[in-house]
Amino acid sequence: MTPDVLIVGAGIIGAACADALSARGLRVTVVERDAVGSGATAAGMGHLVAMDDNAAELALSAHSLELWKELVEGQPQRHEYSRCGTIWVAADDEELDAARAKAVTMRAHGLECDVIGAQDLYRIEPNLRPHLAGGLLVPGDGLVYPPKSARILLARAVARGASLLMGEAVALEDDGVLLADGSRLSAGRVVLAAGTRCLALAPDLPLRPKKGHVMITDRYPGFLRHQLVELGYIKSAHASEGESVAFNLQPRPTGQVLIGSSRQFDTTDLAAEPAMMARMLARAVEYTPALAGLNILRCWTGLRAATPDGLPLIGPDLSRRNVWLATGHEGLGITTSLATAELLVAQMTGGQAGIDARPYMPSRFNPQGRAYG
Ligand SMILES: Cc1cc2nc3c(=O)[nH]c(=O)nc-3n(C[C@H](O)[C@H](O)[C@H](O)COP(=O)(O)OP(=O)(O)OC[C@H]3O[C@@H](n4cnc5c(N)ncnc54)[C@H](O)[C@@H]3O)c2cc1C
Repeated sequence: MTPDVLIVGAGIIGAACADALSARGLRVTVVERDAVGSGATAAGMGHLVAMDDNAAELALSAHSLELWKELVEGQPQRHEYSRCGTIWVAADDEELDAARAKAVTMRAHGLECDVIGAQDLYRIEPNLRPHLAGGLLVPGDGLVYPPKSARILLARAVARGASLLMGEAVALEDDGVLLADGSRLSAGRVVLAAGTRCLALAPDLPLRPKKGHVMITDRYPGFLRHQLVELGYIKSAHASEGESVAFNLQPRPTGQVLIGSSRQFDTTDLAAEPAMMARMLARAVEYTPALAGLNILRCWTGLRAATPDGLPLIGPDLSRRNVWLATGHEGLGITTSLATAELLVAQMTGGQAGIDARPYMPSRFNPQGRAYG
């Protein structure tokens, strides 16, 4: 039977969409070329974080955090969820002022947060270097193990009758996709949730790959308790050119420490680059000197799908018949996956989502429905 919706890609976004669509009774097929939860999802740090670079980003991330809390409730271990909270670390008084401003914005969106001084900062995170000014503690942020969450979401969809088909979509057709083995899959609608690889199927989409490195240490329980991020991270995350690194450490539930984060445009080579790793480690050790004594086990990279305005593409692609987009989540797609799925379902079925869909609609880049410029 022809599915109502064919989703290309079973990363966290495709899996969340499959879950939400099947929950509304739609017949869903997911086609995946590699493994469920691969792509950027396997590379991501899994930080569930409220980001407030602009009102639309904050609305999407804050709403999705609420949906994550419902999802993991009662079974946090399955997602390897931890409500570790985030501390946005302020290096000096100027950054502490920025933390205060951030607190005002977050509270206005109903998010709990506390500006903390240096004394409290060192009490809860003693491995931070001396002479920091304090920070902003956001206790509701957390973390998951993204590929596992993707598998759980997809399994829920399959339990409701959705199908998973292993194969690669190589071309979009009027009523479905052509697969690499020459077969065709028809569907009422096709959702592109293939991360940066959406560009292989629709090269004009306003997407650019942004490479990131992550490292993981051996187990050091108690080395840190919160996700620690420098306040300068937002500037680094939203730079639209060049290379940048920012201090970003995460305490995995295993006691391991995840070390992020880097951003590079204009490369799709997934090889780990020693020079970039050295820059990340130098930044991390600058903030947490004791990190220099830890053992790093592994480094990997992934490609974020970045849009020109830093917001995802969620909704119909006006330039392609029956094609919908759920991509462009850059460095926030684990956090925003559940709200993305909710917005997509609401648009497809005429239902209500918890937030306004307009800031994320692809048509903001092609209001006339022509190819993206
Ligand atoms: C280093 C790094 C750190 C990050 N840290 C965080 C974080 O802490 N918090 C956060 O919220 N976000 C984070 N992100 C961002 C997040 O990982 C991504 O936004 C998110 O995983 C995107 O998911 P996706 O499903 O859109 O794409 P992907 O995860 O890339 O999934 C796409 C899927 O589609 C499949 N596919 C591709 N092409 C085809 C095809 N033609 N046919 C069939 N299947 C296909 C792929 O195999 C893949 O499984 C990070 C990203 C990186 C790279």
